[in-house]
Amino acid sequence: MKYHGTTAVIDLNILRNNFDIIKKMAPHSKVLAMVKRNAYGHGAIKVAKTLESKADAFGVACLAEAINLFDAGIKKPIMLLKGFLDEEELLIVDKCKFETVIHNEEQLNLIEKTKLTNPLHVWLKIDSGMHRLGFQRSLAEKAYQRLIGNKQVVKPFKLMTHMSDADCPERPKTANQLAEFFRITTNFQGEKSIANSATIITHKDAHADWIRPGITMYGCSPFADKTVLEYGLEPVMTLESSLITIQNLAPGETVGYGSTWTAPEQMLAGIVNTGYGDGYPRISVTPPEVMINNKTAKLIGRVAMDMMNIDLRTVPNAKVGDRVILWGKDFPIENVAPHLGTVSYELFCQLTARIVYKYINE
Ligand SMILES: *Cc1c(COP(=O)(O)O)cnc(C)c1O
Repeated sequence: MKYHGTTAVIDLNILRNNFDIIKKMAPHSKVLAMVKRNAYGHGAIKVAKTLESKADAFGVACLAEAINLFDAGIKKPIMLLKGFLDEEELLIVDKCKFETVIHNEEQLNLIEKTKLTNPLHVWLKIDSGMHRLGFQRSLAEKAYQRLIGNKQVVKPFKLMTHMSDADCPERPKTANQLAEFFRITTNFQGEKSIANSATIITHKDAHADWIRPGITMYGCSPFADKTVLEYGLEPVMTLESSLITIQNLAPGETVGYGSTWTAPEQMLAGIVNTGYGDGYPRISVTPPEVMINNKTAKLIGRVAMDMMNIDLRTVPNAKVGDRVILWGKDFPIENVAPHLGTVSYELFCQLTARIVYKYINE
């Protein structure tokens, strides 16, 4: 049976190509490939297996994500971006030999009082101005020395920071953060890691020993005003659905819950087999578009749990069963997200368990 529900077609060849392009942007850096939140909705195990021969390590947000990769047999280092949150988690980190960020005093206390069975690989997180995780200038030296003095910690350990404004290259913040990070770590030993996708593209001087690409690997731009095609990257995911019926509307007839949209003339409206139950947001700022037969059609009315309506006046030849592209190849998600008042990252993360994944070019 052909499945006509919402399908995420994941092109693993494009994923490999994107990785290679990013690697060429920072040829002297190792790559901590970001696969948090199910590899930005692309399927963490598939993505990690596809990139395992290329990436130097994988980054995840929490222990459950790390265990998922560990259980799938991923052998490259798996790194916890927020580290462990309590002793129980630390013991699992130890047992599975995960690498961990150390960003606060509580974590330092825990590794000092907990007996571990394996040498612990840590990434000391420095707060260079984002004020989210990490040790600020006044506390960094002390934290560094405590790790140096801890026999369970592998030396030299790694040093990292994170940029808050790299997607806005016209602002001076990134340069200031870089200067702050280098100032704090002047006398520290260890490999350094600074750059997320936006920083990799805009700041060569931030490539350092390890880059940490996420969104660009998946073929999306981190910048609001540029699509990913400008960098030779391509969308890995194409989210597609189908047209399940076509309605003939007379002028003045309304569409969907709340009757929020009224037909201005005699016209056709299409019903797409996708709704917020699949992860397509209900709220939009301006009407987003979908693509059918290489033409765009605007959403009309309210997105429902399982369906949504589109204006078929731009696609007069549309018929029931036609493929509807919500975003992806030839229709970048960057062109959809602003209408939904968000960014590609969030749309990827919101995809629900109803989505069927189809992997191609394995
Ligand atoms: C998610 C994340 C990244 C990757 O960011 P992208 O913008 O997706 O490239 C890098 N570093 C840290 C600490 C992150 O949390």
